[in-house]
Amino acid sequence: MIRSDFDLQPFNTMTIAARAKYFAEATSLDDLRAALDFARENQLPILPLGGGSNIVLTGDFPGLAMHVGLKGLAFDDHGEYTQITAAAGENWHQLVMHSVAEGLGGLENLALIPGNIGAAPIQNIGAYGVELKDSFHSLTAMEIATGSLVEFSAEECQFGYRDSLFKQDARDRYVICEVRLRLSHSWRPQVSYPALQQYFSAKGVAIESLNPVSIAEAVIAIRNSKLPNPVQIPNAGSFFKNPVVDASQYALLRQQYPELVAYAAGDAWKLAAGWLIDRAGWRGFERGGVGVHKQQALVLVNPGHCCGSEVVKLAMEIAADVKSKFGVDLEPEPRFYPGA
Ligand code: FAD
Ligand code: NAP
Repeated sequence: MIRSDFDLQPFNTMTIAARAKYFAEATSLDDLRAALDFARENQLPILPLGGGSNIVLTGDFPGLAMHVGLKGLAFDDHGEYTQITAAAGENWHQLVMHSVAEGLGGLENLALIPGNIGAAPIQNIGAYGVELKDSFHSLTAMEIATGSLVEFSAEECQFGYRDSLFKQDARDRYVICEVRLRLSHSWRPQVSYPALQQYFSAKGVAIESLNPVSIAEAVIAIRNSKLPNPVQIPNAGSFFKNPVVDASQYALLRQQYPELVAYAAGDAWKLAAGWLIDRAGWRGFERGGVGVHKQQALVLVNPGHCCGSEVVKLAMEIAADVKSKFGVDLEPEPRFYPGA
């Protein structure tokens, strides 16, 4: 059923009040196709929605917002690996916890990432040194222009750092319906991030004794200690991507700021955007209901349930300040709707 003039506030974790001209809940492929037919006949832009944890609503959406609520989850043992087949509307964190409870490793570092499976390939979700692409096998998506189903292999998805084909050439062309992951039975823990190392060494836990459940529990504890729960403090996670700069710019910055947080990324360097924002003095800043989280400056928060334009205004001020102080461009990670 297509609804009109629909309130999107409960459908975005920033809790921005905005309305969609039309809205549909799709719990089957037939629902999805019918909604896409409606949008095509009325020449409407589409906004596929999962948990709404990586979007910023900058105003009312003049098209069809569509909550992708397809359900279904299957685990199939293939000897050397288990294949997980998950419909787009399944919750990501629940999938992670289900997999570790089954004794499967590979997704534990990605615990507590909000949102649904269908959105996970869009930005190749990642945390603590692991990305979706590390266990991704393939996906099925519905082409918006035709309603036909198309399969994409891992290679075809062109995964990059918080990036994929679906943010580039295939942007706004597909609705992801099903994702297939393969978890190898020869698992190795990935605990290179300092936060994980510190957590286990403080508890006196040896790396050799770790299992997927203990790593998932550590990730959950660390995240809960520094990241705001969107249910309590509205936010969209990291507001900016970590900028990547060349070796010469990195060397200049390092000379000026010996405490700079940066990691080698091939020949280039990935700077911690949160450190730059913090160092520029924005951590804990508040203005009229929007602000910068006290424990992690990379997260913009919206406790006042303000409109998207206030959030964007603050983000632009922060980016301009970081550019003037460090000469580094910050690019927002969440997608803005309607776009600029
Ligand atoms: P939405 O916000 O609903 O959508 C995001 C984008 O994907 C939109 O462009 C939307 O149109 C599109 N989309 C959604 N579903 C589909 C579909 N089925 N088909 C096609 N397009 C679709 N991200 C990380 O990578 N790592 C983290 O550690 C992480 N931590 C976070 C912590 C917090 C507290 C928050 C609030 C966010 C965090 N995020 C993180 C960002 C976010 O959770 C992920 O990007 C997540 O995958 C978004 O899922 P969602 O269902 O909420 O997507
Ligand atoms: P953190 O552990 O304080 O680390 C700060 C930054 O340094 C991170 O952005 C991380 O990059 C980078 N980093 C740390 N150790 C690294 C290593 N060994 N190798 C390469 N890079 C390293 O970060 P945090 O804010 O608490 O977040 C923890 C993890 O959750 C991070 O992976 C982060 O990406 C993820 N996260 C993502 C979102 C989101 O919305 N996208 C929100 C919250 C947390 P990376 O970001 O590239 O990992």
